[in-house]
Amino acid sequence: ARKYVVKDYFQGVPKLSDFEVVEEELPPLKDNEILVKAEWISVDPYLRAYNSQVNVPYDQFSYQVGLVQESKNPDYPVGSRVVSHKGWRNYTIINPKLNTELLETTYKLPDLHGLPNSLGVGAVGMPGATAYFGFLEICKPKPGETVVVSGAAGAVGSIVGQIAKIKGCKVIGFVGSDDKVQWLEKELKFDKAINYKTADVAKALKNAAPKGVDCYFDNVGGELSSVIINQMNVFGRVSVCGSISSYNDNLDNLPKATILQPAVVFRQLKVEGFIVSRWRERWPEAFADIIQWILSGKLKAREHITEGFDNLYKAFTGMLAGENFGKAVVKV
Ligand code: NDP
Repeated sequence: ARKYVVKDYFQGVPKLSDFEVVEEELPPLKDNEILVKAEWISVDPYLRAYNSQVNVPYDQFSYQVGLVQESKNPDYPVGSRVVSHKGWRNYTIINPKLNTELLETTYKLPDLHGLPNSLGVGAVGMPGATAYFGFLEICKPKPGETVVVSGAAGAVGSIVGQIAKIKGCKVIGFVGSDDKVQWLEKELKFDKAINYKTADVAKALKNAAPKGVDCYFDNVGGELSSVIINQMNVFGRVSVCGSISSYNDNLDNLPKATILQPAVVFRQLKVEGFIVSRWRERWPEAFADIIQWILSGKLKAREHITEGFDNLYKAFTGMLAGENFGKAVVKV
């Protein structure tokens, strides 16, 4: 088996030399164990964000969809597929019964009704659940309200925006390129998309949302979020999902952003952060709705596929740099 080990703490953008590909011999299976061959491996922003939270060296974790190749566990027969958090490795021995940590839990790939198995690490996996619960449970959107999403062309953001449309909201997305603007407006039917790299963000948002913003789903943090939060209406709701604009910065040297407390107080905003594992037991609810929306043409689950186990690093840093439209995933 081959796996990626992270040797050191990342400084800025992760470097190829921070990783080492290690070969290891796998022992024969014991009772309850399965041998899983990875087919789809996920690259996500939290792989960057959590680097400073764990001890190095460590095996690079992330979600993967894999095929059971050998089995000593009748619940997971040969030929079935599982979603696990075993990360960047091609073959893994798993005892599903021993996985107790929320993220570590191995579970059967949901019935995707013929949709691609890769969605198990995307729209019908952790990112889909993040979009669904992080938006619906925290923003509690009402029809006719104005919703802003940052990171809007990504795995989570593109789904949040489409769920907001399904719920009858007006949706404005912030993205990092004009091609992404086109995609959101033409294909995903966002009411407006804005390139935060080139636009006068405050002015563009004022034009797009003259009556103010009711819900903000925040994937990026930083000054962009300060500008958006300063245009929120009374009793607005902010779901703080991520802060990718600062993941590559040192924690002791974060970029400065506008102070938000006056806006939060005077507009009586609700600002709530979350980790999607909070709703782990309920993920199947999200998956059922999302599958239904995809099958009925209401939701598009675009993927940005990179081929090859050897290209995991490239796919990861490409995603951090904004190359992906939709979910970045690697086909092993
Ligand atoms: P994405 O598919 O959105 O990929 C990351 C995107 O971030 C890039 O495509 C890029 O798009 C954008 N980006 C990169 N740098 C910056 C920057 N400096 N400023 C603004 N945007 C930037 O990833 P995910 O959908 O998987 O994750 C989105 C967010 O959700 C992340 O912050 C992640 O940590 C968070 N998350 C949180 C979870 C939770 O439980 N709280 C669970 C899952 C994800 P662009 O071209 O538009 O810049």
